[in-house]
Amino acid sequence: MIIGDTSIHISLKKLGENLDAVRKMAGKNVAVMAVVKANGYGHGAKEIAPTLLEHGADYLGVARLEEAMQLRESFLKAPLFVLGFTPDRFLQTAVENDITLTIFSAHQARILSEAANKLNKKAVVHLKIETGFNRLGTDSIDELFEILKTPNIYAEGIYSHLALKDRASDEVQLEKFMNIVNELEAKGHTFRYRHIADSISAVDYPDFRLDMIRTGAVLYGMKGFESDNVEVQPIMTMQTRISRIRCISKGEGVGYDLEWTAERDTVAATLPFGYADGYPRALGGKSYVTVRGKKCPLIGIMCMDQCVADVTDVDDVKEGDIAIIYGDGTQNTLSVAEAAQKAQCNKNEILCRLAARPVRIYE
Ligand SMILES: *Cc1c(COP(=O)(O)O)cnc(C)c1O
Repeated sequence: MIIGDTSIHISLKKLGENLDAVRKMAGKNVAVMAVVKANGYGHGAKEIAPTLLEHGADYLGVARLEEAMQLRESFLKAPLFVLGFTPDRFLQTAVENDITLTIFSAHQARILSEAANKLNKKAVVHLKIETGFNRLGTDSIDELFEILKTPNIYAEGIYSHLALKDRASDEVQLEKFMNIVNELEAKGHTFRYRHIADSISAVDYPDFRLDMIRTGAVLYGMKGFESDNVEVQPIMTMQTRISRIRCISKGEGVGYDLEWTAERDTVAATLPFGYADGYPRALGGKSYVTVRGKKCPLIGIMCMDQCVADVTDVDDVKEGDIAIIYGDGTQNTLSVAEAAQKAQCNKNEILCRLAARPVRIYE
């Protein structure tokens, strides 16, 4: 493998520290699912999984069975959990590979039951409860009892997901969830894991942690929460190097449509990263990179593979100099949070759109 100029540096040490902090916050009676869907929010699921497992993640959570199967190839024994819907045709594969599934229909319970019977094991599932998000799950008690009485099914858990509109509406969801759990428990069905909290609610609402929290964002150092219940740090830096420097005169344009025009004589640095590396095209002309500790505005339209920055104010700037694309927000670097704000998206989107092309370097 050759390491190009545009690279993503990931600190496994900081990732481990973040998980330690989250586990300490949760306490020993609350399990922690480390969510690594979408290639570990862009950080590389396969590469970060060992650190998460070593630091005591109780589950690795992904969105789809195909992601779980990729992890299963490398991690034969790891507890893997699919948070999303699994199509009927994949249910047998899930049982064969000991992957814990999210289900909410008796129809799927029956298919799983048959597959499990053939393999002489139990299908491990968590029941997904609809509490108001209106995306996945059921709030039909009859359906849930139907699933629970299906043979060869081990309902290890029961869970729901919050809309996070505000504390009041989240509490309505929690109450609806607990009412259903209590009704099932009253009939003798108990669950090892009852869970409803993602990163934000796990940090801000201690009473929502129940038996397990499902954390993605906070493990990657994203602070979308309000309280100071946990101390985490960003684990990713993206950088590149200046390919070319050219002095352009006042009045000259730069890039497609010559959209940007120099208002002064300008030193322009060409950088080998673009929207195909996962950088939002919308940030062309609206953001900056950091060269020698100085913020350098991006100028012109963001191209697929390249862009241009104004480095006029950087002393001694040279071709080959490092330009920080995303940093931790200190030393004039653009944090993921600030990039999200500028691109009018959220922090998770900035992370998970990081493309495959820039090489990941784990340190
Ligand atoms: C992605 C996901 C999470 C993790 O969300 P974060 O905000 O990144 O912590 C938790 N639960 C479900 C169901 C998810 O899909």
